[in-house]
Amino acid sequence: MLLIWGLRVIYRTLGQGVFFCRRCGGDREYRHRAGRRYITVFFIPLIPLAKTGEHVQCLTCKTRYVTEVLKLPTTVQMQLAVSAGMRALVVAMLRVGDPANPLARRRAIDAVAGTGERGYDEAALTADLAEPEGTEIGRIAAFGGQLQVEAKEWYLAEAIRIGLADGPLTGQQRAAAAHLAAALGMTQAQAIGVITLTGQNAGQN
Ligand SMILES: [Zn+2]
Repeated sequence: MLLIWGLRVIYRTLGQGVFFCRRCGGDREYRHRAGRRYITVFFIPLIPLAKTGEHVQCLTCKTRYVTEVLKLPTTVQMQLAVSAGMRALVVAMLRVGDPANPLARRRAIDAVAGTGERGYDEAALTADLAEPEGTEIGRIAAFGGQLQVEAKEWYLAEAIRIGLADGPLTGQQRAAAAHLAAALGMTQAQAIGVITLTGQNAGQN
């Protein structure tokens, strides 16, 4: 009798979910798998051999990655972090000015909506302003830790434009902007640069 021997890798799925696939350039479904080689007899895996290691596979493009790829945030998680950071900046800036001013509120809502949170409206802003004071700085610092310096400057300028919506910055708003810049992890010189430039640009419009 002739035995037909072979080798085959059998995969076991350890988990699945959504991750950021670099090859696809977006959030995709993945399968987290572990493989093991088997000697097969008549195509039936019979004798287990070495494990082949774990991998994460994109179900769209089939690219395999090392499992560390799951530690990276998805674009949805990134967007949520950016929205949360912007909401904290907006609230901090409105509180030192006039939180009831319609121009400043409009600017604040536009800034948050611009981060991808399309449904952000007057009611959501009112709810954010009702949150206990003092919690924003921690959220802004966590947000700033994820950003490159150009992005920090951009978000700070967005916050400053809220203060500028109803006229030139007051001393209190200027001090708040410097405080926000420090929370974002910017140097004093960078902060002064952004505050001055944003004010000048607003004056030219
Ligand atoms: Zn992919």
